[in-house]
Amino acid sequence: MMQTPLTMTQMMKRAEMFFPKKQVVSRTASGIHRFSYKQMAERTRRLADSLTKLGVEKGDRIGTLAWNHHRHLEAYFAIPCMGAVLHTINIRLSPQHICYIINHAEDKVLLVDPDILPLLEKCASELHSVKAFIVMTDDKELPETTLSPIYHYEQLLTESDPNYSFPEDINENDPAGMCYTSATTGNPKGVIYTHRGIVLHSLALGLADGGGISERDVAMPVVPMFHVNAWGIPFAAVWFGTTLVLPGPYFTPKLLAELIETEKVTITAGVPTIWLGLLKELEAGSYDLTSLRAVLCGGSAAPKGMIKTFEQKYNIPFKHAYGMTETSPLALISTLKSYQDKLDPEEKLEIRSKQGTLVPGLELKIIGKDGEVAWDGKEMGELALRGPWIASEYYKDERTQDAFHDGWLYTGDVVTIDEEGFVKIVDRTKDLIKSGGEWISSVDLENALMAHEAVFEAAVVAVPDAQWQERPIACVVLKEGFKGKTTKEDLVEFLKPQFAKWWIPDDILFLEEIPKTSVGKFLKRTLREQVQKEVQK
Ligand code: ADP
Repeated sequence: MMQTPLTMTQMMKRAEMFFPKKQVVSRTASGIHRFSYKQMAERTRRLADSLTKLGVEKGDRIGTLAWNHHRHLEAYFAIPCMGAVLHTINIRLSPQHICYIINHAEDKVLLVDPDILPLLEKCASELHSVKAFIVMTDDKELPETTLSPIYHYEQLLTESDPNYSFPEDINENDPAGMCYTSATTGNPKGVIYTHRGIVLHSLALGLADGGGISERDVAMPVVPMFHVNAWGIPFAAVWFGTTLVLPGPYFTPKLLAELIETEKVTITAGVPTIWLGLLKELEAGSYDLTSLRAVLCGGSAAPKGMIKTFEQKYNIPFKHAYGMTETSPLALISTLKSYQDKLDPEEKLEIRSKQGTLVPGLELKIIGKDGEVAWDGKEMGELALRGPWIASEYYKDERTQDAFHDGWLYTGDVVTIDEEGFVKIVDRTKDLIKSGGEWISSVDLENALMAHEAVFEAAVVAVPDAQWQERPIACVVLKEGFKGKTTKEDLVEFLKPQFAKWWIPDDILFLEEIPKTSVGKFLKRTLREQVQKEVQK
C-alpha cells in the first residue's frame, strides 16, 4: 500500500473541492452569519497568508482565545495547514493559568475575541513570547486596548492572498494542535495533537457506531472550541462536508433550542450541564426539535434520568460518550448491540447510561488490585488506553511519568466492564470515597439522586471520618417548585432500596448551586472544602 501522509490539508481541500456550496452558520456578537465552504476555504488561505506575513513559521504555536464561530473555524484549518500549531486556550481559566499556558507553549501570535481582551490585558506584561495580537471582531474599528502590536482580523484578510498555497512538506506526525488540561494540583498540562491523530480521530467521528457524523448532518458543537477541539467535531465536519452551526458567545438554553429549530440541527454535542439546561427550557417553551437525531454527551456522567427524559419524553436519541483531553477525546461510546434491542427498556437504559464500548482503532485494559479485572460489571480498576489518537506524553512536563507507562495512558478513571464490554466510569481515582476499606462510587450516588423528581443537581463528596476513614455527604440543588418541601429524609428513603446501607450518605446538604469547573464539571475539590466547613460547624 502507499504511504500517503494523513494531514489536515487534505481535509480542508476536500471541503473546498467537493462541498463548496455547503454552509457554516456562525453566531457572533452581531448576529447570525452564513458562509459557504468556498468562502471559508478562501478566508482560511487568506489567514494563512496573513500569518506568514506576520512571520509565523513551521512549528510555531499560535494561540486562540475565542468562542465557537467562523473565524475560529478558519484558524482551526489555516494554522495546521500552514505547518504551525493551533493552540486553543481555555478562556474560562484564571488569568494566572492562561498566562502560564501561553508562556509554556511559547505562543508567537494570539487570535483573540474582543470580549476576551480585558482578560488578556491583565497578564500582558508577563507574556514573553507573543509578537502580535489579532482581534477577531465584527466591528470595522479596532477596540480600545493596551495590547500591542494589535491587528484587525478582517483588515489582515482583506490585504492577503486568497490563493495562498499550503506547504506540501507536512509530515503526518508533525504537531497540528495543542490543548492544556487542568490538573488537580499545579499548572495545566499540555497535550500535542498530530495531523495523523486528528485525521484518524475524525474518521472515528464519522463511523456509524462512533460519532456517526456525515455530509447529511447539520452539526452544532456546543462544547467550546477551546475544550479538546470541540471534541474534534469541526475537523470532521469540514472534511465530510457537513453543515456546521457554531453557537457563538454567551448562548442561553433558549438560544440553543432556537438554533436547533431554525437551522434543523441533526447532531449536537456538549456536557451534561448544557443538556440539563436545555431540558429546563423545553419544559418552559415550545420548540420543534424533531430534526435532532443525536445528542452527544460526555465530559462527565450523563444522569440516567436525563437520558430517559430526552428519549422518552422528547423522542430525542441520546449518545453517551467518554474521553479526555489526552484522548482527542473520543474513546468510548454507548451504542446498543443489535441483539440487545430485545431487552426491556429499563435494562437498555441501564446499558446506555454506561460510557460505552471502545471506539474502533483503540485498545484498552483495566487494572485492578490484582491485575486485569474480570468482565463482570463489578470489579473496579483503572482504565488504561492506547491508540493513534491517544497522547503519548504531556508537553515538556515532568508529570508525564505519572500517567504514561509502557506505552499506555493511565486515565485516572476507575471503571468496571461488563460481559458485553460496556465500560462504566465509577469515579476519578481521586474522587472515590473509601469507607471502611471498601469503595463507594460518588457518581452512582449522584446519578441515583438526580433521578429523583425534586433534584436538579447532586454531587457527592467524601469527608474524613475517624471510624470509617471517609464517609459520603451529598450536596443537592432542588428544582424550583420543590425547595423547602422535599426533605433530607425523603431523599434518604429514595436511596435506601437502591444501595447497600453503608453507601447511604451520612448527610444531605441543600445548596443553591454546585461549584463547577471551567468546563461545567462539578468542582469536587472546592465542594469538599465547603462541605468540611459545614460539617465541622
Ligand atoms: P479536565 O481533566 O480538565 O476536566 P477533560 O475533558 O480532559 O478535562 O476531562 C476528562 C475526564 O472527564 C475523564 O478522565 C473522566 O474523568 C471525565 N469524563 C469524561 N467523559 C465522561 C463521561 N461520559 N462520564 C463520566 N466521566 C467522564
